Amino acid sequence: MLELKNVSKAFGDNQVLQDASLTVRDGETTVILGPSGSGKSTLLRFMNLLEFPETGSLSINDDAVTFGGRLTDAQIRSVRKHSAMVFQGYNLFPNQTVVDNVSLPPVLNGKLSKAQARERAQEVLDRVGMGDRLDEYPDNLSGGQQQRVAIARALAVDPDYLLFDEPTSALDPELAADVTRVMVDLASEGRSLVVVTHNIEFARQVAKRVIFLADGSVGFDGTPEEFFASDSERIQRYLSTYG
Ligand code: ADP
Ligand code: MG
Repeated sequence: MLELKNVSKAFGDNQVLQDASLTVRDGETTVILGPSGSGKSTLLRFMNLLEFPETGSLSINDDAVTFGGRLTDAQIRSVRKHSAMVFQGYNLFPNQTVVDNVSLPPVLNGKLSKAQARERAQEVLDRVGMGDRLDEYPDNLSGGQQQRVAIARALAVDPDYLLFDEPTSALDPELAADVTRVMVDLASEGRSLVVVTHNIEFARQVAKRVIFLADGSVGFDGTPEEFFASDSERIQRYLSTYG
């Protein structure tokens, strides 16, 4: 289980999140929805400590940190090891081949030997349909292919939670569909996914849980059925804009 409790964050005068709390359960897909600027990325980045809240706490499985004071590197590592992030812009290393992009992280974090990592890279790249492009450089791939490599890279470290920040927003619909298919496969295998997206259909069909952010806090936390049936004015307004 992943739990953020009472997290707050301001950027200057902009109070982005105020006392937000949420729980992500294992083995299911949690989708985070909300208008642009509502703090979805910030919240997701808290889970991997790419961003630090000013207050509150984060616990993932048996590891926990409390925010507000200084965290040690060991504390940060203990929490970070549980998850891997997939970004909207793929963020592959352009000067590394596909197989290096995927196999180096588990070697660098000490999880696998070079030979094991190479084998694992082949396996996860096969899973995302990129197993025949090992020696390619990212620039020679389409956006959808790069994003599938980025998913393989996240899978290579075998994280408890896969965190996706608008993974298909930069892609043409056809290429986005390839990426979405990979995510649907992972969800159906019972992996724990946390997905920030504007893809309402994905939320409707794949999510077990929908979290809706608005005005600095969690405005809804429940099943997709409940979410789409909600008569909340804020949710209705969101759905008429993004749905
Ligand atoms: P979302 O992902 O829902 O669009 P974000 O979490 O990216 O929202 O951002 C929430 C708000 O915080 C926005 O107003 C954004 O401009 C602001 N923000 C995010 N990151 C920073 C930052 N590093 N510095 C200043 N403002 C930021
Ligand atoms: Mg965002």
